[in-house]
Amino acid sequence: MSGVQEQTTAATMWQEDAGRDLVRNAGDRMALFVRGEGSSLWDADGRRYLDFLGGIAVTSLGHAHPVFVEAVSRQAATLSHVSNFFATPPQLALAAELKRLSGAADTGRVYFANSGAEANEAAFKLARLHGAATDARAARPRILALKDAFHGRTMGTLALTGKPYMQAPFLPMVPGVEFLDSTVEALEAAMDDDVAALFVEPIKGEAGVVPLPEGYLTAAREITARHGALLIVDEIQTGAGRTGAWFAFQHEDIVPDAITVAKGIGGGFPIGALITFGAASDLFYPGTHGSTFGGNPLATATSLAVLGEIDRAGLVANAAVRGEQLRAAIAQIDSALIEGCRGRGLLLGVALRHPVAGALVAAAQQHGLIVNAANDSTIRIAPALTIGDVEIDEFIDLFTRSLATVADALVLDASDPSTPEASA
Ligand SMILES: *Cc1c(COP(=O)(O)O)cnc(C)c1O
Repeated sequence: MSGVQEQTTAATMWQEDAGRDLVRNAGDRMALFVRGEGSSLWDADGRRYLDFLGGIAVTSLGHAHPVFVEAVSRQAATLSHVSNFFATPPQLALAAELKRLSGAADTGRVYFANSGAEANEAAFKLARLHGAATDARAARPRILALKDAFHGRTMGTLALTGKPYMQAPFLPMVPGVEFLDSTVEALEAAMDDDVAALFVEPIKGEAGVVPLPEGYLTAAREITARHGALLIVDEIQTGAGRTGAWFAFQHEDIVPDAITVAKGIGGGFPIGALITFGAASDLFYPGTHGSTFGGNPLATATSLAVLGEIDRAGLVANAAVRGEQLRAAIAQIDSALIEGCRGRGLLLGVALRHPVAGALVAAAQQHGLIVNAANDSTIRIAPALTIGDVEIDEFIDLFTRSLATVADALVLDASDPSTPEASA
């Protein structure tokens, strides 16, 4: 406990700075990190943590991976930005690579953005372009999305995000979006020829790592195609190999009309992209969309190197294998708090029997482990795709101890009849 006392001065200073200078759009920052390497993070007091969140499924190669460092450094010293009046070699190479990995093939096209929300904004505009009436087509004013799915926090992507509590402070929303239960029956009932697009998140990360029902994507592909609506898959959290395939839709062997990617494709460099397939690739025309930074050489060279390393090192297969290993090890943990495990590959949600995810995240941090509460009763795990036995063993050890800390606290609370947790 003496360490806690010693840390107070440094800790208080940065927390004061953050409290005073940063917009209060989120909760208090939980730590001040100054350095990372592989799956390790260090705070300002020199304390090491095992990072099993990966910046929310972003740092695919871990921290300060030599390939990442070399790519950023070399490109920064070569050419960092020229605007989209011009093309650059890394941008063209990354577009070709994303088409290859997603199977978008010869007819596909790539639009570059700087974040997930921006990629989804482009997808929203794609849907509207598809929905616009032309000589050949009637208008399609409706867009379908799934309840509880998350697509971003800009006004457009918030309108696509089926979480009423997130939308409430910002009404009115961009109109035209309807939210469905994640069942084939609900989709059949809602679908018609006036629907421009269906947006889906293959594993609802922000909702607690909840996968779509088996076969949903296959059915959605058939139903949207039958009515001429686009199927747009948000692969922002699930893409770049995380679920054990390059993209989660590939587990069901479908061809979507578009996917959006961000997070893990940059390995820590901000980048997003919309990838269109087939006829959807002809919807944008000059003047309909753009971004000053989108696809700049620094971001695209880095992403190209990150994807290249994922490919070369077999990290997609590693995500599948290590994900199974992790699930099996979690299943062996002797804790009454654990209900089960959801997700795929290295995007896992550990479901808890009590709404103690926040307390568990705090306990984990005390034990030197970084994880995240996807909701009150789910811990989200999204480590680097590079993890192996050493990281998994350390995770299980730290997580087991964190669970014990929280379980002990629950027992203490339960013995105190004045606390509401007593009945939990
Ligand atoms: C993170 C995320 C987004 C938003 O990405 P940002 O880069 O935060 O704008 C959108 N969709 C999904 C599925 C995500 O996980």
